[in-house]
Amino acid sequence: MNFEEIKALDEQYVMHAYGRFPVAIDHGEGATVWDTQGKEYIDFTAGIGVTSLGHGDQGWVDAVTAQAAKLGHISNLFYAEPYAKVAQKLCVRTGMSNVMFGNSGAEANEAMIKLARKYSYDKYGKGRGTVITLHNSFHGRTITTLAATGQDKFHDFFFPFTEGFRYADANDLDSVEAVAGHDVCGVMMELVQGEGGVLPLDREFVRAVADLCAKRDWLLLIDEVQSGVGRTGSLFAFQQYGIHPDVVSFAKGIAGGLPFGGVMANEKCRNVFTPGTHGTTFGGNPVAAAAACYVLDTLDDGFLAQVQEKGAYLRSRIEAMELPCLGATRGMGLMIGVEVKGDKTNKELAAKLVESGLLILTAGPDLRLLPPLVVTKEEMDKGLEIMKAALA
Ligand SMILES: *Cc1c(COP(=O)(O)O)cnc(C)c1O
Repeated sequence: MNFEEIKALDEQYVMHAYGRFPVAIDHGEGATVWDTQGKEYIDFTAGIGVTSLGHGDQGWVDAVTAQAAKLGHISNLFYAEPYAKVAQKLCVRTGMSNVMFGNSGAEANEAMIKLARKYSYDKYGKGRGTVITLHNSFHGRTITTLAATGQDKFHDFFFPFTEGFRYADANDLDSVEAVAGHDVCGVMMELVQGEGGVLPLDREFVRAVADLCAKRDWLLLIDEVQSGVGRTGSLFAFQQYGIHPDVVSFAKGIAGGLPFGGVMANEKCRNVFTPGTHGTTFGGNPVAAAAACYVLDTLDDGFLAQVQEKGAYLRSRIEAMELPCLGATRGMGLMIGVEVKGDKTNKELAAKLVESGLLILTAGPDLRLLPPLVVTKEEMDKGLEIMKAALA
């Protein structure tokens, strides 16, 4: 099918919930993709931080196809090797002690919120169901994770929202203490606010919140749906902050392109979920779990060091271009935000870049880069050349 045919079907039969670029992507290799007309694009998006090993990685394809041929699905009423193995890998690499799998970021965060509420209920009884989250955060699209998201624009249309969330300002401990109360069971935050604009939190603030949580027996809930799985140059971003979260959620990049997500928790949360209290039909699917095992095995220390180097390279080259429409860069590893200046909006710049052959994302009012972690120097240079030519 050509682009016009695909677009016509999509327009007629698909709900218009997404503003799409006028491109149909057909296939890819590494950090390069081609559309249905054969035009090449450098991919600085990796889906939205999903295809961590790029497109068509042979080891990933082999892991997925071998598991699909062996056992494509089995319910959570039985044990299965890929499930147990990926849980072990996550715990051994992070110091966390047990996991629960689901299929997406929002679902992982729902599990994290349920875990905090039940931990508190088991220990203190009713009345401690409130979770503090931060302004400008993003935690997902379900009714509850929309409520958890600290941005007013997500609190429309779908009333009634789930109760039990209060919002504090990032990097302001007083603001967290101002919304604290006897009804709180946890604080949930992204260490690098992703959708909000790629804004890394201050180290001192994060450590102070961790101390406050420990003191009041609130669970420290870290949303690593976007920042996890090597994106920031460590397996999880919390490992660079010197904190020990109670629960960490992950999804996006974990299985290199298949739907997979979940939470990992510390020892004190081990017995919070008991048989029948939480579950999901597809969670821990063996094919997705086998893919996740392959991704985690690939992300060794040498690989993660390269993520740091590539991120630093992209940021220094973008800043050195001194384009009138772009300002400072920020972020960690290959999670990069670029300030948009001047009279063009980030959406207009992104449209121009896609048209010129570079896939890019927006975040808040700015541009966002989440390239596959395997992006090569040649691909980065090609992408930067396109950026320079298109935006000069
Ligand atoms: C994308 C994202 C989510 C939601 O993940 P879905 O898989 O879309 O449900 C939650 N939290 C953060 C930080 C995200 O970036």
